[in-house]
Amino acid sequence: MQAASDTVRDVQRAEGDHQQQQQQQHEGQGEESQKPVNGEEEEEEEDGIDAPLVFQCAACRAVVGDSFAWVCSDQDLNTITLTGAAPGVKINGQLETSTQGRDLGSTYVTFQCSCGAILGRVYQTTARHLDHMRDLMTFDLDALTSYKLGSVGVSADENDELTFPSAIRMKEDIGKIQLLMITHDEKLSELQEKVAHMEHQASIHQEQPQTRSSKRSKRK
Ligand SMILES: [Zn+2]
Repeated sequence: MQAASDTVRDVQRAEGDHQQQQQQQHEGQGEESQKPVNGEEEEEEEDGIDAPLVFQCAACRAVVGDSFAWVCSDQDLNTITLTGAAPGVKINGQLETSTQGRDLGSTYVTFQCSCGAILGRVYQTTARHLDHMRDLMTFDLDALTSYKLGSVGVSADENDELTFPSAIRMKEDIGKIQLLMITHDEKLSELQEKVAHMEHQASIHQEQPQTRSSKRSKRK
């Protein structure tokens, strides 16, 4: 688990490079180039995020979104903007106005995690430079942690100590089975001893003449 801001930094860097490219293209070719630039933008963003990210509430670790809904990030606002959020995230009704920062004068409603923590803003009216964030879910990075899919921190092969509950359980079960086998083994050798003892006793009886004669008499 790591802070969302750390994971998103690479993405922001990639986006920053791209925004410069986009501006250069706009200057050179004008507004007609809008469509191909957008097409390229999608490719750029896919390059920026090398593995899907799962975003979690920093307070309760509930999953609140993922990078498949990615729209953009804003380094100055310290936010990421997604098209939507996970079920359980609730948008509040009260309209507020930003009185400071890069979104000064913008109106928004906040949204919160099911645990009550405020996660971010849905901008209703925005300054021109924030138009691309309007009506979308803009998460405050400080309210999030993130998990990058595939970033496995614990490996069963590398760990000598058993850390997985199933493995610990299995070890206990093997212990129980071994104990049972020892008990059965002891019982078995006890029985074998008894049988050997009885055979020995029987052979002694057979050797006694009295027994032989009685057997003979019975056979007659
Ligand atoms: Zn939460």
